Amino acid sequence: MTLFDNHNHSQFSFDGKRTSVEASAKSAAAQGLGGLAVTDHCDFFIPPVKKMQGNVVQEWFDVAKQQEEITRVQAIVPVKILKGIEIGMHEDCREEIRKVLADNRFDQVIASVHYLDDVDPYQGEYYDGKDWKEAYGRYLETIFREMIWLGDFDIMGHYDYIVRYAPYPQNSIRYKDFADLFDTMFTYLIQEGKALEINTKSYQGYRGREVLLDNEVLLRYRELGGEILSLGSDSHEPERVGADFDRFAALLKSLGFRWSAHYEERRLIQLPL
Ligand SMILES: [Zn+2]
Repeated sequence: MTLFDNHNHSQFSFDGKRTSVEASAKSAAAQGLGGLAVTDHCDFFIPPVKKMQGNVVQEWFDVAKQQEEITRVQAIVPVKILKGIEIGMHEDCREEIRKVLADNRFDQVIASVHYLDDVDPYQGEYYDGKDWKEAYGRYLETIFREMIWLGDFDIMGHYDYIVRYAPYPQNSIRYKDFADLFDTMFTYLIQEGKALEINTKSYQGYRGREVLLDNEVLLRYRELGGEILSLGSDSHEPERVGADFDRFAALLKSLGFRWSAHYEERRLIQLPL
């Protein structure tokens, strides 16, 4: 398998205590993956409620130290390791986001939204007083607004992250419900040569609830000319590296896609699926 796992967390992520660059690289090598990117969390925004609870955890990392560790592991594990970052977009932190990207050299940058409306969807409060359509639509709009502003990224991260923790029976972001928004986002990605992420963790199931990937979303992406897809496991444990890649690679092929993307020194590389 020549696939690259483009989304992995390590000990440099605030929630990466169960893994390490070395353990993940060894796991990727053992599975015969083409490579992996270490894309640690970098969120500068801290939700006010966490501050109130005194529950403030720094969710960014020391890029120099992380890259030093990647270089060390690269010398001892026979698999390509890419230097990455998952930058958490938030309008209150735009300058810090720009700065960390400008001050460092990465192979690839995933742009994601983890916090919006000043809250953390993971803790549930985001959904209060919203129906599914508003909750999901607002998330997509936020990704679009911030990624247009940022511009400096390679991969649009987990567009359906917001479904994973949602309280609604509606367990998928369907193309037909957000057709205009998807078209606008995809047109932008395609024109800019950026990748749409298939984040396999999103579909892993969470507290007994399954999240479904709507094939129509992918078919529309392709119809508009979208060919750049990034597979990411979003692993926080070495065993999760490359998780479900066989299944998703087969799905993508069945929908007419031919390539899986990754970026080296911010340059697009397409390998056959
Ligand atoms: Zn993320």
